[in-house]
Parts: sequence; C-alpha cells; structure tokens
Amino acid sequence: MSDDSARVIIFDTTLRDGEQAPGFSLDVQAKLTLARALDALGVDIIEAGFPIASPADAEAVRQIAREVRRPVVAALARCRPQDIEVAAQALEPGERRRLHIFLATSDLHLSRKLRITRDACFEAVVNAVKLARQFTDDVEFSGEDATRSDPDFLCRIVEAAIRHGSRTINLPDTVGYGTPAETREFFENIRARVPNADQAVFSAHCHDDLGLAVANSLAAIEGGARQVECTMNGIGERAGNASLEELVMALRVRPDRLPYDTAINTEQLYDTSQLLARLTGEPVQANKAIVGRNAFAHEAGIHQDGVLKDARTYEIMRPQDVGQTPEQLVLGRHSGRHAVMRRCETLALNVTTAELEQVYRAVIAFTEHRKAVGDGDLRRIVERLRTSAGALTGQG
Ligand code: MN
Repeated sequence: MSDDSARVIIFDTTLRDGEQAPGFSLDVQAKLTLARALDALGVDIIEAGFPIASPADAEAVRQIAREVRRPVVAALARCRPQDIEVAAQALEPGERRRLHIFLATSDLHLSRKLRITRDACFEAVVNAVKLARQFTDDVEFSGEDATRSDPDFLCRIVEAAIRHGSRTINLPDTVGYGTPAETREFFENIRARVPNADQAVFSAHCHDDLGLAVANSLAAIEGGARQVECTMNGIGERAGNASLEELVMALRVRPDRLPYDTAINTEQLYDTSQLLARLTGEPVQANKAIVGRNAFAHEAGIHQDGVLKDARTYEIMRPQDVGQTPEQLVLGRHSGRHAVMRRCETLALNVTTAELEQVYRAVIAFTEHRKAVGDGDLRRIVERLRTSAGALTGQG
C-alpha cells in the first residue's frame, strides 16, 4: 500500500487486548458471536486471541478462523517457536490468516522485564519472523513499548523484520504515554529512517492512560500509519485502547482535516457496542462519545429548541448514521416548552397551545422528585390535569 493512500485498515483487537482487561473475559461462544458482529461491522482484521495463553483462547481463534471468512483473522504470539506454532495451528482452518508476533524493544522492558540484551532481542525477532513466514505470508511484527524505545535500535529491528518478510509493522504506545504531535513525528521519523519502510504497512496501537489514544491514533495516521489497532467501546488493558467508533467517526465527520477512509458500516456501531456490553456485562458509560446513551440526548431547553428547528444546531453527525435513535429529547428539569409540546404530539395527546403552559409546569414540578419524565409519566400528567377540577376544562 502506498504512503499517500487514503484507506486506513481497521485492525480490531476487542477479542484480544479488549478481552484481556479485568472483568471483560468472554467464553468461546460469546467471542464467536462478537466476531460475526465485527465482520458485519466491516472491520478489516479481527485479532481473535493469544492462543498460547490458554486452550480456550486457542479454541476461540480456531472457531473464528473457521467460521468468519471475510476479514483477516489474526492470532498473537511472542517471539518464541512454541507460541508461533500454537498460534499457527489455531489459525489453520482460516481463509486469510495473520500471525502477529511481538517483542518489547525498549531498554526498560529488555533489561528489567525480559532480562535480555538488544542483540538477543534482535536475533529473536529475526528468527520469529522467519518461522512465522513458514505458516503464512501475512506476518505482523509489534515492537512492544515502541514509543519509549531507542529510535536507532527500533529502526534496526524494523528494517530487519521487513527484510525477513513482515508486511505490517506495529509501533505500540503500550503505556499510553505519547502526545499527538509527538506520535505524528515518531511515525514520520521511523518511516523516513528505515530504508525498506515502503515495503510494509505501519500500524498504531495506542492506549488510553491519558485519554489520548484516539488523538494519538489520528496523529499516527497523519504521520503515515495506514493501520490502526482499536477496540469497540475502547475496552482494553488498564484505561483501554483507542476506541474504534470514535476513530472511525472522526474520519467520517472531518474529511476536511482527516482525508482518510475506512470500510466500516457506521450504522452498525451502536448495535455492536450494545452487544459487547451485554456479553461482557460491563455497561457503556452514559456520556461515551458515539455509542453512549447520552451521546445524542438533549435535555437543556435551548438545545432542545435548536435541535427541533434544525438538528445541525447541536449535532455534528446524524444519530442514525451510527445506529442511534434520532431526536432524543430527554424531558427533565432543564427542558423547554418546545420539547414538551413535541413529545405530546408524538404521543398523540392532543395538547393545545392553551394547555401547554400547565403541562409544562407539571412536567417541571414532576422533575423535583424524578430525574426524567418518561412517556408514561407524561400521559399521566396530562390525564391528571384534565380530570382535576378547573384544569384544562373543555379540552380534549
Ligand atoms: Mn495493548
């Protein structure tokens, strides 16, 4: 893929990095259900698991590889022969198989965690790429903690990984330490310095420890990355990964600044997010961008009035474009008359302009005790006003 291509590959790791987060584990059946939904969503690559980690992981990878045929199915392995062989076996029934091998490249990880030298790291990467290529020609190499690695050493490793047949080079911000401008420069520099960089797709894998995962992923794209690794609802280790729905919608809503495209069917985003929440039992935060239940909900009277006149006043994208319900006007303490009237019309309560003031006051009074006014509450409010003496006389 050439550098100036505007197409960004969506590598979904909900079932691997996402699933390994505390409280998010999924059984084989649930992973298969989600993999089918990710296929329908249009992701390019599904990272289905880390087969050496457990027999259940290996089984999930095997079943997904067998049944989900359109996307590439990837399996993770350390740079160890047994890991790579077990991952390759799990992928064996697949149509389009990717082996994703990783090894830390930062001195901190090499000296403190792995207790190996840079030379040993280099040798392990070369041997692992060579072995992985015996099983598939689609090999991805990740230098774990790449953003904190010595750039000279990282360039040496990346050049060797590409030379031995790795077609995708992933440079993870494993600990979510980078800033956007720095991330863009990092990708530009590594790609400029590695002589065979044009023979690989560069990939970003950003974590959200500072809430910058999506911003950093977008910056990586601007720096030449053409694959982003992300998860539904942004789930993943610690504070999570870059959120797929946010990344995709940023590209969709701002093509003027971000002229890149993906193959995601955005209308499926909300349902996929809800499916993940149901299967993991972990709800999506209410104010989560794109897929949260408040992402398109308006309660303030001024906002409701604006949205009713022209939704573009307070909405930068249409709720239906991400699979959410249009015109979500929450009747609450901050609502205005316009929204109360609109809801009465929707419920066919035939409230006249003359009645509206009383209905509106009753709605506001109701919210002293309850946060929101549901459709049933509104019906009862109108009925009560109509049956009580002196109220709404002759209306009907
Ligand atoms: Mn990760």
